[in-house]
Amino acid sequence: MFRINHRCINCGTCWQFDSDHFAPEGERACVHAQPDGQEATEQALLALQACPVAAIETNRSLRSTTPVDGFPALIKEHPQGKIYYCGWASRRSFGACSWLITRPSGNVMVDVPRWSAPLARRIKALGGLRSIVLTHRDDVADHERWARTFCCDRWIHAADADAAPQAEQLINGGDAVPIADGLQLIPTPGHTQGSLCALLGGERAVLFSGDHLWWNPEHAAVVASERYCWWDFASQLQSVERLLDLDVALLLPGHGRRHAFAPGAWRTALEQTLNWSRRHHEP
Ligand code: SF4
Repeated sequence: MFRINHRCINCGTCWQFDSDHFAPEGERACVHAQPDGQEATEQALLALQACPVAAIETNRSLRSTTPVDGFPALIKEHPQGKIYYCGWASRRSFGACSWLITRPSGNVMVDVPRWSAPLARRIKALGGLRSIVLTHRDDVADHERWARTFCCDRWIHAADADAAPQAEQLINGGDAVPIADGLQLIPTPGHTQGSLCALLGGERAVLFSGDHLWWNPEHAAVVASERYCWWDFASQLQSVERLLDLDVALLLPGHGRRHAFAPGAWRTALEQTLNWSRRHHEP
């Protein structure tokens, strides 16, 4: 039996990871269906483990059966690398998703989970980390500990660098910067001044969007949120526009739902986002 307690901060981690059992309900999450069977129970236990504030409860004996190697969880095999969801969300990043890309030329973590020794052991077994990309100032969580453990470089835009002043690599200005073969960082100021997206691949690419964009399944739309824009929304919309010509097959945000796009659907979705946002934005 799983239940949600009063500590829930409504971050979305549980229902984004395990929508079979968890869902939003008003100002916090709810358990809309109890898991049935071993596989479903393990999925719910991993959602419990990922929760940043220990707001999901179950009995101790069931909890002790949580898989030790559940995270990182493989979500996509792309020609440029395997992509995993890291789980272990951090309250300091309001439960934002952290992603791991494993590739022969060196693994990359995009945004950072809370520190977890079991997760670190799994990442070490997958080849460690060559780089950490911090998409913006909000989602840096325990970057110090992760960078120290793996002796890897951290990338952040200079405009958000005060959130990670020890970062080894700064992006300046608005030009896209390749940081490894097939992986580039695209400055997308708006949500914060130093927001950036990471783009893996060219054709049928994967876009790690931080809090710049996410998918809203109820409206079947890509969202650029004015409500959660901390810097400048007009700039955020310009940053959306610069992504129109990409061929994105998979959107992986920090918050909100991920989404896969059919060929050609990305541009159409972003045009809808821009039209809707410009109609409703009050300058
Ligand atoms: S992961 Fe935890 S804090 Fe986040 S919505 Fe679910 S129960 Fe609430």
